[in-house]
Amino acid sequence: CGIVGYLGTKEKKEILLDGLQELEYRGYDSAGIAVIEGKKLDSFKAIGKLENLREKTKSFHSEGFGISIGHTRWATHGKPTELNAHPHLGRYSYVVHNGIIENYQALKEELISEGFNFLSQTDTETIVHLYEKYYNQSEDPFKAFEQTVNRLEGAYATLLISESAPDTIFFAKNGSPMLLGFDGEEIYFASSDTPIIGKASEVYYLEDGEYGYAKEGTIKLFNANGEKSFTKQPLKADKT
Ligand code: GLU
Repeated sequence: CGIVGYLGTKEKKEILLDGLQELEYRGYDSAGIAVIEGKKLDSFKAIGKLENLREKTKSFHSEGFGISIGHTRWATHGKPTELNAHPHLGRYSYVVHNGIIENYQALKEELISEGFNFLSQTDTETIVHLYEKYYNQSEDPFKAFEQTVNRLEGAYATLLISESAPDTIFFAKNGSPMLLGFDGEEIYFASSDTPIIGKASEVYYLEDGEYGYAKEGTIKLFNANGEKSFTKQPLKADKT
């Protein structure tokens, strides 16, 4: 299983698919990607080999500025079907996740009782509905993501993108690996350094309990206590 993410102006489909290919050695039963470019939101999923996902995305192009996430799944909750493959969609947001949300059953019951509609059998889907529940309340994307992370128990590396913040990738890590890579104002995410090697000029390995967001070439990073611990500015010098 594995995760990739990319924020920038390059062809996102290719970066995601190549990145997932680099993570193939970790094993997977299905794969998927989601891209937001301006107000345009697209996602594709396929069971089996990455080749199937490549085939499905053949005529899809994503060359403008945008945000994107990709995933290879190793099913823990719910069979390896296309519906259970990530990214999982809420009403206006997508999530990918590696790991296990231990308290997903309780979260799912709570969300269903509040009218949220689940399409998959995964533990992961709770994350996207939690985000939208909190966003609907405050209309503050980062606050909503932080509230979401605070509710999660278990192991996770997760990326979330949303029409509510179409220039931002939210991330959180606890127990499952994830790192960030920078190249000027472009930002990469991955489960291991293999998708990032040769692309990013600098990397940062997230620690357990860290979460935050990437936007406009900048990373804002917080620890489990919600304190700001790290801000990464774009490496403008690289561009000249
Ligand atoms: N628990 C999640 C699922 O079953 C994520 C599995 C993974 O790490 O790929 O969908």
